[in-house]
Amino acid sequence: MIPYGKQHIDQDDINAVVEVLNSDYLTQGPRVPQFEGKVAEYCNAKYAVAVNSATSALHIACLALGVGEGDIVWTSPNSFVASSNCALYCGAQVDFVDINPRNGNLCTSALEQKLKTANINNCLPKVIIPVHFSGQPCDMEAISKLANKYDIKIIEDASHAIGAEYQNNKVGSCQYSDICIFSFHPVKIITSAEGGIALTNNNALANVMKKLRSHGVTSDVKEFTESSHGPWYYQQQMLGFNYRMSDLHAAIGITQLSKLDDFVLKRNLQAKKYIDKLIDLPVTPLEVSDAVLSSYHLFIILIDKSCCVPKKHIVELLRKEGIFAHVHYIPIYKQPFYKKLGFSETYCDYAEQYYEQAITLPLYPQMTEEQQNKVIGSLKKVLNTTDSI
Ligand SMILES: *Cc1c(COP(=O)(O)O)cnc(C)c1O
Repeated sequence: MIPYGKQHIDQDDINAVVEVLNSDYLTQGPRVPQFEGKVAEYCNAKYAVAVNSATSALHIACLALGVGEGDIVWTSPNSFVASSNCALYCGAQVDFVDINPRNGNLCTSALEQKLKTANINNCLPKVIIPVHFSGQPCDMEAISKLANKYDIKIIEDASHAIGAEYQNNKVGSCQYSDICIFSFHPVKIITSAEGGIALTNNNALANVMKKLRSHGVTSDVKEFTESSHGPWYYQQQMLGFNYRMSDLHAAIGITQLSKLDDFVLKRNLQAKKYIDKLIDLPVTPLEVSDAVLSSYHLFIILIDKSCCVPKKHIVELLRKEGIFAHVHYIPIYKQPFYKKLGFSETYCDYAEQYYEQAITLPLYPQMTEEQQNKVIGSLKKVLNTTDSI
């Protein structure tokens, strides 16, 4: 099977892990702060807080921004469930802003309309979580203008988008957001096996997130609110978690980061090849703006409405051909858990339209020309098929 995505591990990643295993610290050693420094520098953000997953990063980002009971958080329905679950962890309510069905990102004019209505009804969100879907940055300048107007905070879910650029700045610079998070799950652009990070330019937010990732505890004398009992003293100041990243994971992250630009370049070249080769087929690649650099976490095609082979058959037939085509994403509100919260089956019109048409094709740096040719050939075959299965 040719997977839809896959990590790329070299000998230097393996050596980095072995080095940590032979060192004094497996966790809470020097690698985590090193990794944080390098990611912050790469993105031109002031602070970075590494954690054990992007899901944890989203949770502590919401908490740091004060999300709690009685609050509302908005995100995109076209995302992984973690983008909205984080609000529920905090006891808040979640709601979804419809997408642009041509690029899969949150739709700015839908956001504007929804904000106007929410303002009238006195139910504005505290935080908006735009998702840079498939690696293409959302229009953050427009989103932040709208958010500022209503005094709403922004967390970028950039799980797909490390290495991407918006207005010639790396995603993660937090120019238009309070916090930006990345995922280092193996299927994402770079990996630390499991892992995530939260970036911010706000020192207070960084400090709170650092405490929240480690039990709400600090050992920093300058932060103590009561006098120290002695050199062993530490203080719990809030209810935190154990969301720490280990040095083993951070070591992989460091070596992976040095390859990030190369990975993004390869992904862009593979995407370009798909776009060129699929031109005559009844499919339309997801729209990517010339004004941004996508990190191409995913390569997605939309099956034209005129195409006579149903999407389900296309995916089934591709899998029969040894190609693990996938679908990103099932709109979150369609999940049984979310329907129990009261969302209807077809809550967002454009997310529905997109979901009917979208298929993810394999794309990852180590995919060979031969493999990509096979995907293209199989897709051609499948789209011409009249067999039923
Ligand atoms: C992968 C992903 C997450 C969760 O990342 P983990 O590191 O696996 O917790 C969150 N949001 C989006 C959009 C993702 O793709």
